[in-house]
Amino acid sequence: MTDDLRLRGASPGSFTLWGVLMLACLLASCAAQPAPQPILTESGPAGTEATGRHFMVATADPAASEAALAILRQGGSAVDAAIAAQAVLGLVEPQSSGIGGGAFLLHWDGVTRKLSALDGRETAPKNARPDLFLDADGKPVDFIDAALSGRSVGVPGVLRVLELAHRREGRLPWADLFQPAIALAESGFALPPQLAHAIAGDPRLKNDPEARAYFFDAAGNPRPAGTLLRNPAYAETLRAIAARGADAFYGGPIAQAILAEVNDDGIQHMSAMDLLDYRARERDVLCRPYRVYAVCSTGPPTSGGIALLQILGILRNFDLAPLDPDGAPALHLIAEASRLAFADRDRYVADADFARVPTAKLLEASYLKARAGQIRSDRTLGEARPGKFTDPMIVAEASQRQVEPQSTTHFVIVDSAGDIVSMTSSIEMGFGSHRMVGGFLLNNQLTDFSFLPAAGGRLVANRIEPGKRPRSSMAPAIVFDQDNNPVIALGSPGGPNIIGYVAQALVEMIDWGRSPGQAAAAAHILNRNGPTLIETDTSALDLRDALEDLGHAVEERQLKSGLNIVQFKDGVMIGASDPRRDGIALGE
Ligand code: GLU
Repeated sequence: MTDDLRLRGASPGSFTLWGVLMLACLLASCAAQPAPQPILTESGPAGTEATGRHFMVATADPAASEAALAILRQGGSAVDAAIAAQAVLGLVEPQSSGIGGGAFLLHWDGVTRKLSALDGRETAPKNARPDLFLDADGKPVDFIDAALSGRSVGVPGVLRVLELAHRREGRLPWADLFQPAIALAESGFALPPQLAHAIAGDPRLKNDPEARAYFFDAAGNPRPAGTLLRNPAYAETLRAIAARGADAFYGGPIAQAILAEVNDDGIQHMSAMDLLDYRARERDVLCRPYRVYAVCSTGPPTSGGIALLQILGILRNFDLAPLDPDGAPALHLIAEASRLAFADRDRYVADADFARVPTAKLLEASYLKARAGQIRSDRTLGEARPGKFTDPMIVAEASQRQVEPQSTTHFVIVDSAGDIVSMTSSIEMGFGSHRMVGGFLLNNQLTDFSFLPAAGGRLVANRIEPGKRPRSSMAPAIVFDQDNNPVIALGSPGGPNIIGYVAQALVEMIDWGRSPGQAAAAAHILNRNGPTLIETDTSALDLRDALEDLGHAVEERQLKSGLNIVQFKDGVMIGASDPRRDGIALGE
């Protein structure tokens, strides 16, 4: 038996997820599990929760949630609605995601009861070399210079992953799914507050002529919230994709426009073959126990699933339920578990098609129990060291931590058959590479690679290589009970902070019985194996002294998560969207 539990192909008669988890647990001599407890739902903050019996959508924007709901009402599947939502998000939340970016899509089929993970992550072109972001002296170039360059653009994957999902799970015709976004792009929409805020804070957007004309007025002032914005170029792009499928993007005039933008410094960073060769991939689903549940996410090239399951796998060695959710002892434990997970992430996790990632070992219950044993209740560990693996097959490679700025979006959609899409989608930095073609922005996801190919005489696992996918932090997740029924689906944007946001929300709901709205609104405390970060303007700052007494170096930060969460409870779905962004959950 492998440690990677692969749900695809599993059916209730032949194999239950819970049975395998319990067996894995017995073999690894886990502590006895407590009796099953229902997740308690209290009412959340007003206006942030929706309930539904048939459908539920929770996205980062009301127009995207409405478009998804309209598709569900027409009999569309969760995947159909996800395509409509993504097309609208590329219009109303273009700073975060779009067809110029990449995504990880976790799909639960409510009928066949199969879980699958699809990878639409951007890919390094064939000309990309390990020194892509090094200067003539072999030193890493300035992050922002790299981030705004054509060479930071990875081959986009969003449309290919949606196409693959639609081929498997689509009920409505592909072309119909783009109509809400096309109509909105043509008739116009009121510029949402988050987008207005992002434009106003980013004067570099003006360097790109198409972006300047779209996001700023003739005098160069950022367009304010509420401005009626039309995007006819995006409507035209979507019309071509609606009519001819994703191929209209990966070849022909749209592809030519992308290549002209990426290669505008006269160097061929990306070729027509790079676009034509792009493939979305199915990846291993990773599931591990947490309390009485199984938490499932996706494996490399994202580090999100592994790190999330490591944090929870360490925390399950402690009884958090009796602790005060807003007290220092509980938050100290979460921060310490997170330190340990980030130490392993930073060293070992990269695209597993290129690097030997010890996924199974990183998630072994006995390993995580030993890691938990390093945690002291009276003192922080300080900087955690990565685990050492004695298996001679595992090469311990050096790693470099890097800046990963915040944009990205997550949405959850549930259809009337019980299918779930939990998808995180990104163009990396806010507005990606700040390069706009055909009404959409190109990603700068290649900056998620390590700029340094080697350190301390050893190769970095996440170094740039042709055809490789940069390590992500995205962590779309779905949680199941012992009968294999979904109980929670969630995810968040936030760069490497995604991992902490999702872990904390799950602890809030599973250990402390908080509702989706409460979990989404809870003040954040995070640790990425450095200072302990506390969200600014929150009551969590009251814990500063207590955490400093435990030895934490505390820093105050904005911590702008964008959680979208759906809970399944007693035949009802409860959805919530993070109050820190413009999102909304809608149920029926
Ligand atoms: N590029 C990041 C990743 O793939 C996401 C950036 C963000 O969430 O802001 O992990």
